[in-house]
Amino acid sequence: MNTKIVILGAGYGGLMTAVKLQKLLNYNEAQVTLVNKHNYHYLTTWLHEPAAGTLHHDNCRIEIDTVIDKNKVNFVQGTVESIQSEERKVTLQDGTTLDYDYLVIGLGSEPETFGIQGLKEHAFSIRSINSVRMIKEHIEYMFSKYRNEPSRKDYLNFIVGGAGFTGIEFVGELADRIPELCKEFDVDPSFVKIYNIEAAPTALPGFDPELVEYAMNILRDKGVTFKINTPIKECNPDGVILADGEEIKAGTIVWTGGVRGNSIIEKSGFEVMRGRVKVDEYLRAPGHDNVFIVGDGALIFNEENGRPYPPTAQIAIQQGETLAANLVVTVRGAGEMKKFVPELKGTVASLGKGEAIGIVGNKKIYGNTAALMKKVIDHRYLYMLGGVGLVLKKSKF
Ligand code: FAD
Ligand code: NAD
Repeated sequence: MNTKIVILGAGYGGLMTAVKLQKLLNYNEAQVTLVNKHNYHYLTTWLHEPAAGTLHHDNCRIEIDTVIDKNKVNFVQGTVESIQSEERKVTLQDGTTLDYDYLVIGLGSEPETFGIQGLKEHAFSIRSINSVRMIKEHIEYMFSKYRNEPSRKDYLNFIVGGAGFTGIEFVGELADRIPELCKEFDVDPSFVKIYNIEAAPTALPGFDPELVEYAMNILRDKGVTFKINTPIKECNPDGVILADGEEIKAGTIVWTGGVRGNSIIEKSGFEVMRGRVKVDEYLRAPGHDNVFIVGDGALIFNEENGRPYPPTAQIAIQQGETLAANLVVTVRGAGEMKKFVPELKGTVASLGKGEAIGIVGNKKIYGNTAALMKKVIDHRYLYMLGGVGLVLKKSKF
């Protein structure tokens, strides 16, 4: 009987594991099943663009069928409900159960709301094709609503809670979209306000201060108002209340205040910290030699400074590659598994059209050069996943 490998989630980590496995395994060497909610993989790292409406959401998704080899990987479209690790089974929402010898969990993340009242109910978050389609539609609706109730200028206020990389990238796109919306809905651009609110004493906490300043200046010039060192304390249908008591009204609130691991992992009995499992050097969950976690659900530490690595696509992709090779070693019972050590190439964040900041290697980049680098990174991933064909199909150039 062939070894059964079940991969949950076709995100950066899960899909890369599947694509590498199909390259490395011979036919019939293992039975690989990939489970995902949708029949497409989405490019989370691009989602701030369709959320603002500067790119169509179809550009950010890839049919799973077009990147997997059906002779080697069986794709199941379904929503995972729970994992029964004792019985080596996964249950899907439709009641189907799948059994496994080895399990790869790549279910991504969920918004971390820190228990802030009203956030779950009244704020949007940038997390999937479905969520960003709703943000884009809502933004347009608020413009049309304002046209019918001109006394409600607050409909044209936008609050983006959290000035981490997601918040910064989103306000950059949003600021680019506003002039177009104002033209379409006959709105005076000076009526529109974008607030990016951050709890920490700086935007992009921990990032290079010179690049942070550059980013904030670019975004301010585009019309973004920063409120730094002012945590959001509460969210309601009409806006937010800050820790200092100030109330800001808005028609659109987008929460970009951080992420935690998918709650299915915790509900299935794995020990977690902010929803993430502290995995071993082979990405295994403690006490489970046959359960591997990749991507945002895996907590790994930088041995040099003892701090956790941030959850990024860059790391999820590398984990998928290493894990696929280790699974092949395990299936064949020959060779040695490789420890996972991230090879960080840098960070580049977009600030809207033609503008970005980044550190590549130890070189700081900004402006057009950084914007070009961001596109190169995006295309490199497409190439890794589906070769030149996929690059040409989804190219941003
Ligand atoms: P994901 O890519 O989120 O995939 C999870 C998959 O699991 C999805 O396909 C989802 O549909 C599926 N799934 C979830 N629940 C279920 C279920 N119950 N049943 C079945 N399937 C399910 N990182 C970078 O390195 N560089 C960047 O430039 C960058 N930019 C970003 C920009 C934005 C706007 C955002 C929001 C994040 C960005 N990140 C970036 C972070 C990066 O996107 C995440 O770290 C990465 O997506 C994590 O990959 P993953 O494989 O863990 O999960
Ligand atoms: P994050 O955790 O990096 O940033 C969240 C921000 O929200 C923080 O600055 C935090 O101080 C702030 N915050 C928290 N509570 C708040 C409150 N009550 N009021 C106001 N502000 C509050 O989360 P993210 O930006 O969603 O990023 C998630 C992960 O994805 C990170 O690892 C990030 O590096 C990665 N990412 C990378 C890129 C890129 O490389 N270009 C882009 C987007 C995201």
